[in-house]
Amino acid sequence: ERLIDPDARGDDARIDRALRPKGLAEYIGQPAVREQMEIFVSAARARGEALDHVLIFGPPGLGKTTLAHVIANEMQVGFRQTSGPVLERPGDLAALLTNLEPNDVLFIDEIHRLAPVVEEVLYPALEDYQIDIVIGEGPAARSIKLDLPPFTLVGATTRAGALTSPLRDRFGIVQRLEFYSQADLGTIVGRSAAILGVEIAEGGTAELARRARGTPRVANRLLRRVRDYAEVKADGRVSEAVAARAMDMLKVDDNGFDVMDRKLLGALVETFEGGPVGVDSLAAAIGEARETIEDVIEPYLIQQGFMMRTPRGRVATPTAYRYHGLPAPGGGPD
Ligand code: ADP
Repeated sequence: ERLIDPDARGDDARIDRALRPKGLAEYIGQPAVREQMEIFVSAARARGEALDHVLIFGPPGLGKTTLAHVIANEMQVGFRQTSGPVLERPGDLAALLTNLEPNDVLFIDEIHRLAPVVEEVLYPALEDYQIDIVIGEGPAARSIKLDLPPFTLVGATTRAGALTSPLRDRFGIVQRLEFYSQADLGTIVGRSAAILGVEIAEGGTAELARRARGTPRVANRLLRRVRDYAEVKADGRVSEAVAARAMDMLKVDDNGFDVMDRKLLGALVETFEGGPVGVDSLAAAIGEARETIEDVIEPYLIQQGFMMRTPRGRVATPTAYRYHGLPAPGGGPD
């Protein structure tokens, strides 16, 4: 279990629910997304129609599920949730679709992992609010069309590139979530601390925001662990020094990197001499799944300018060499 794993596994679901923003006004950061969604939601509500289908993409923990909930709340409609790998057969999806109320939100997480036979059921549902279901087997089998109520599909994916184009084309609204600024993460930490009743100094909030990997889920998780530390090792108050000491103990460094980040950078800079190196070789070297590297570890390292993705493979930047206390190759100023 990575402490800063932006995946929800191992999180306390009850606390997660308490911290999750309900409406757009509480949804912090992502100004472009918020501004657009405010307009699209108001317009759909005024017309009394279902909101257009929404595709949300971005690394784990940035608020895709939260945004889906927020959309349903703002539309004042029901919310159903499932995920790509859970829908194994066409009937699984058909059962969900036929139970929707008019204008409901159906949220499908990891939508890039839908089975092709299930995805095909989705096309006419998205386009015409209809599904074709097959009844019976063999020569007696026949297909009947069922009308569905109008609904909004909200799909979430960590990788927009993994979606088939017929599926992607059926979303009227596409939102990409970005890593959060330190200021926005500070606001999130402050809000969560207030909800959890944690006394935290401004410096403590800033320290957490700085090390949260641009990710609200990581910020909230760090806050809980730092609170534990403050209660046991200090007077319960999260000062800047207490926050820094707690995160040092947790091995989350100044950049917000943890053991896996450092392993990846180490392999890139030392084992592979800065690259270019293929992601599969990197995965083998550090003993992580390729998917984890692509979806979870490297997006932040790339965004922070420690590595680059090139057509020939991953490459370390001078910043990565500096981080490792090594001179950058090529005789540059680094
Ligand atoms: P994803 O679905 O992208 O993996 P989630 O929507 O589950 O991420 O978000 C993880 C947690 O981070 C949520 O429980 C919520 O508390 C917090 N969070 C996410 N986005 C925001 C935001 N914009 N403002 C405040 N908190 C947020």
